[in-house]
Amino acid sequence: MADIKERLISIFPVCHVYEVVVSDNINCTYVAKFGGTSLSDAVHFKRVKQIVTEYEGRCFVVPSAPGKRFASDTKVTDLLYTLYSQKEDFDAAKETASIIENRFLEIANGLKITKEQFDISGYFEKLLQELPNSNEDYIASRGEYLCGRLLSIYLGYEFIDPADLILFDEYKELIMKKTLRAIARHTKSIDRAVIPGFYGKNIVTGETTTFSRGGSDITGALVARGVNAVVYDNWTDVSGFFTADPRIVKEAARVPALNFSELRELSCMGASVLHSSTVLPLMDSNIPIRVRNTFDLRSKGTLIAPNDYKSASSKPKVAGIAGKKGFTSVIISKLSLGESRSFVRLALHAFEACSIPVEHIPLSMDNLSVVTFTAALKNKKKMLHDELQRVLGDISVDFCDGLSLVAAVSSSLSTNAVFARVMFDALAKADISIRLTDQGSGANSLVIGVDEHRFDDAIRAIYEAFIEHDFI
Ligand code: ASP
Repeated sequence: MADIKERLISIFPVCHVYEVVVSDNINCTYVAKFGGTSLSDAVHFKRVKQIVTEYEGRCFVVPSAPGKRFASDTKVTDLLYTLYSQKEDFDAAKETASIIENRFLEIANGLKITKEQFDISGYFEKLLQELPNSNEDYIASRGEYLCGRLLSIYLGYEFIDPADLILFDEYKELIMKKTLRAIARHTKSIDRAVIPGFYGKNIVTGETTTFSRGGSDITGALVARGVNAVVYDNWTDVSGFFTADPRIVKEAARVPALNFSELRELSCMGASVLHSSTVLPLMDSNIPIRVRNTFDLRSKGTLIAPNDYKSASSKPKVAGIAGKKGFTSVIISKLSLGESRSFVRLALHAFEACSIPVEHIPLSMDNLSVVTFTAALKNKKKMLHDELQRVLGDISVDFCDGLSLVAAVSSSLSTNAVFARVMFDALAKADISIRLTDQGSGANSLVIGVDEHRFDDAIRAIYEAFIEHDFI
C-alpha cells in the first residue's frame, strides 16, 4: 500500500489534486484501460504486461481491439465492420475473416499462446457460419472479445465477458445503475481480471450491443466505478491532453490536470483523446482518470480529477482550446420572431422530426440560427426546409455551410471577463470574422464560430494571445 501511495504522489507532485488519489479511502484497486494502438501486436502486449504487473493492487484491465501497427494499417474493428458488410458475399467475407484471424494468430504466436489455450482458427470458422444471422454490433465487438481472451491468458488473469456486465435498454441506452451493480457483483471475489471494452448486452433482446466508436473508454470508467477503483488509468498513444491540437500549434503543451467538466467540454468540442462520455460514470465519484502514454512511460500524462479539485495554482487558467470543422448554420428568418413564444420550440421540433441533431441555437430578434453537423444534413436539406415551412409558415431558410467551432475551456471562464476580450481581440488582429458566439450554459466554455478555412489560424491566434496573457 505504501508503495502505491508513494508512486502516485511522485507522479503528480505539483498539483494538490493527487490528494484524491491518495486519500485515506485508498483500497488499491485500479483499472487500466488500453487503447488499440497499445495492443496492436505481440510486442505491445508485452509492454502492457509490464505496465499492469508493476502495481500490486487489485487490477482490472480493459482492452480495446488491436489498432493500427503502422500508418496505412487497418484497425481490427474497421475490418470487422467490413466483414459484417460482406455478410451476403461469402467469398469476400472469408477473405476479410482470414485477415483478422491472421492478426490474432500473429499475436498469439508472439506470446506463445497455444491452440489448446485458445483455438483462434476454430473461432473464426464458427464466426463465419454465424455471420449471416448476426447483428452488426456482435461482429464489431469480436475484436475486443478476442483481444481480451488472449490478454487474459497472457496475463494469467480471469476473463469476464462484458455481456454479463454492461447492460443496455431497447434504445441502446446504457442502464447505468444496473450495470454498476452487475460489475460490483461479478468482481466481488475476483482480484485480477480482463474485461473487454466497447460492448455489452441489450437486456430486452439479449443481443450484443456496442457503445459508439471509441467506447472502450466508457467501459473502463464503468469498471472503475463498479469496482470502486482508486484510479482509472487510460493508457493511450499520446501523452494526455494538450492545450491545443499539436498538429495545429506545434508548441502546445501537455495539460497536467483537468477537472471532469473541463474534460467533458474539451472532448465534446473535438479533443479526441477520450470518448466524450467517459466521465459520465465517474461524475459523482472521487475516482480520478489518468491519461497515460503506453509508449512514453516517463510522461506524467493528464490527471482528470473531480470538479472540487482544482490546480494548486490560483491564477485563472485555460484548460485548453479545442475545435471542430464540418458545421452548418441553418438560419431561419422572420420579422420579430423573437417575440413569438412557440417559434423556437416549433423550429427545434422540425429538426427532431428530421432526425437532425442540434449543437447550438443563437437567437436574435429576427433570426434563429441552428447549428448542426453538415454531414447530418446530407440529403435532408429539402426535407428540413419543407418541415420548417410547414410548422412555421412564412419564413426564409438559409443553409450556411463551411462553419467551424473553436472553444476555449476553463472553469474560471465565468469569473474572468478578460478571457473573452482576449479571444475576440486575437481574432480581430488576425482579421478573422466571428460567425457566432455561444458561452456554454455550464459556463465552462466559450464557443466561437469561424469560417472553416480560418480554423487553424483562429486556434493559433487564440493560443498565442492566451500565452501572452499567461492564461496557458
Ligand atoms: N474498437 C472500438 C473502436 O475502434 C472501440 C474502442 O477502441 O474503444 O472504436
